[in-house]
This record gives sequence, C-alpha cells and structure tokens, in this order.
Amino acid sequence: MEYRRMGSTGLQLSVLSFGSWVTFARQTDDEDNDRLMSIAYDAGVNFFDNAEVYSAGKSEEMMGRILKKKGWDRTSYVLSSKAFFGWKGEQKKPNQHGLSRKHLVEACHEALTRMQTDYLDLYYCHRPDPNVPMEEIVRTMNTLIQQGKILYWGTSEWSAAEIVEAHMVAKDLGLEGPAVEQPEYNLFNRQKMEADYLPIFRNIGMGTTIWSPLASGLLTGKYNNGIPEGSRLSLEGYEWLKEKVLMEEKIAKVIKLADLAQELGVSLPSLAIAWCISNPNVTTAILGATKESQLTENLKALEVLPLLTAEVLAKIDEIMGTKPQITIS
Ligand code: NDP
Repeated sequence: MEYRRMGSTGLQLSVLSFGSWVTFARQTDDEDNDRLMSIAYDAGVNFFDNAEVYSAGKSEEMMGRILKKKGWDRTSYVLSSKAFFGWKGEQKKPNQHGLSRKHLVEACHEALTRMQTDYLDLYYCHRPDPNVPMEEIVRTMNTLIQQGKILYWGTSEWSAAEIVEAHMVAKDLGLEGPAVEQPEYNLFNRQKMEADYLPIFRNIGMGTTIWSPLASGLLTGKYNNGIPEGSRLSLEGYEWLKEKVLMEEKIAKVIKLADLAQELGVSLPSLAIAWCISNPNVTTAILGATKESQLTENLKALEVLPLLTAEVLAKIDEIMGTKPQITIS
C-alpha cells in the first residue's frame, strides 16, 4: 500500500480507501461488510469513509459494530463522517439537516455514538449550505476540533470559491480552514480536480478523498450490455443515478477503454482506479464494493499504477475526451 499525506497536513492516508455508501445499505447483517473491511484493512487500507445520511444512520452503526468486533487499534485507522443531508429523509425538520452549528454538532455527536468512538479523524460538510454564514461553519468545526471530537474538518462538493472563502474567514479568525475536500473524480468527471482546484492545491494545500472512482461501476464495463440484475443501477430508489450515469456515449468510451486495458494486460476497473491515483493531487480514492472479488480486483490498481506512462495517459485522454481546458498557467 502507498500512503500519501493529506494536503498540507501531517495525516497519512492509504491511497486506496473504503467507503460505505450504497454498499452497507444492501446488507442486512454485518458479515459481508466485515469481510470487505477486513480485506481492505489487511491490504493496508487505513481510511474508512461514512456519512450520517448513508442508510439513514445505519451505515455508521454497522461500521461501528464491525470496528468494535475487529478490535483493530483505533490509532491504526482513520474514520470519517459527514453532515448536511440529515438522516430523517422526508420527515426531517428545519434543524435536522444543513450546516448550522446545531446540526453540525448534533450530527457529530450522533456519529460518535453510532460508530462507538470518541473522535472522528475527518468530519466533512457534505455539501455547501448558502443559508449558513461561513463564519458559523468555520467556528463550529474549530470548536469540535478544540473539544477533541474531530481532528480535521473538510468539505465535499464545494466549489473552489467556497473553499477559498472558508480559508479566508478562518485566517481572519486565526482558526483552521478545511484541510480536505471530497469531490467526485473519475474518467468522466475531471473539471474540479484538474482545473478548478489547481490554485488551492498550489497556494493553500488541500487533501482530496475522491469518490466514485468507477462512476458507480460504469467504468468496470458491467453496464456495456444492459443493466445486470443486482447491480447498483438496478436498485430501487437509485433511478436518479441511472439517469446521471448511464449514457450511450459514455458506454462507447468504456468499450474503447476496455481494449486499452486488454492491451496492457490489466482489468478495466484496476486501470480506471489507477488512473485516478495517478493524479498526485488525489490523496486517496475511496473504493466501493459489494463483493470480495470486486474489492480484490480493485486493490490491484496499485500494481497498474506504474504502467501509466505519459504515452498511456495520452491514449486514455484521447479515448475519453474529458480532459478539461486549463486556463491558468
Ligand atoms: P465506485 O464508483 O467505485 O462504485 C462502486 C460500485 O461499483 C460498487 O459498489 C459495485 O456496485 C461496483 N463495482 C466496484 N468494483 C467493481 C468491479 N471490480 N466489478 C464490477 N462492479 C464493481 O464508488 P462509489 O460510488 O461506491 O463511491 C465510493 C465511496 O465514496 C462511497 O462508499 C462513499 O464513501 C463515497 N462517496 C461520497 C460521496 C460524497 O458526496 N461525498 C458520494 C458518493 C460516494 P454493484 O456491485 O452494486 O454494481
């Protein structure tokens, strides 16, 4: 396993990590996810990602139970949660979501209880919240740090301008700005990581824990001939995701990418994940997997990484046609 420092912090994250979105919702007992987390941990994964909204709090509870059962040294792994969406679905009341001090603090307390831990290593604002003053968010996150309930705070899917604003407010107050952002990053979605955030990487320093490295599975080739039964895009309640992910023009690119993977003698998922971590601004790519075989395959991305020469990367850019224009020098 390779470990990377999270932006300008001293924290080291395994370059491949493991997340529980969708996956944990599908298992009613802990056994399958226990096995997946164990495979990851044994391979050197040291970061497990979670959020209040995943399975309406049940994902945090399940991860907490598994971690307790495993008995791994708490100092050997990094645990996260995120607040914004709330976990009460349509029933949520005004202060049960968003980034107000009230919700951030209450969601943190709930995460600590559900995950049976004294502190979260990383605590994210899961989305921006224009209804809350930036100063309230920055002060709240810093209070949680000072109380020892979280170690670093971060953002997820914030724009570059919002992240810079948070840093400016924090600097004015003599407080800590966000240390890490959690954006979507994969071969179909490159704009933020490769263009928008560049000045932040350069001038402030920021770690990234990127999500959906396989575009929800599309980049495995599993959707090339329709939607397999039991796959994520076949699930009830994820129709919105199907609309976002599944498009003919994308599948045509995946088919060409599969040819390149074959030429290189590697699997398509391992190539797509290796491509993500070939970007040095990625601290870690969060893997999602419903089966042990998927996780084992995806961890092979580490072996594929050295094969990604400038020539191979150029071929990938040509196939995908998704490389953003970079306007700053
Ligand atoms: P991916 O894009 O890698 O999708 C993972 C899914 O693809 C798996 O659950 C599985 O779904 C399928 N898959 C994975 N590997 C293979 C394989 N080798 N062969 C075939 N199918 C495979 O990642 P996720 O979208 O799951 O995101 C990863 C993590 O990122 C989440 O768990 C979460 O922690 C975080 N996240 C954060 C978000 C945010 O807003 N901050 C948003 C979304 C995710 P199946 O078997 O069901 O088809």
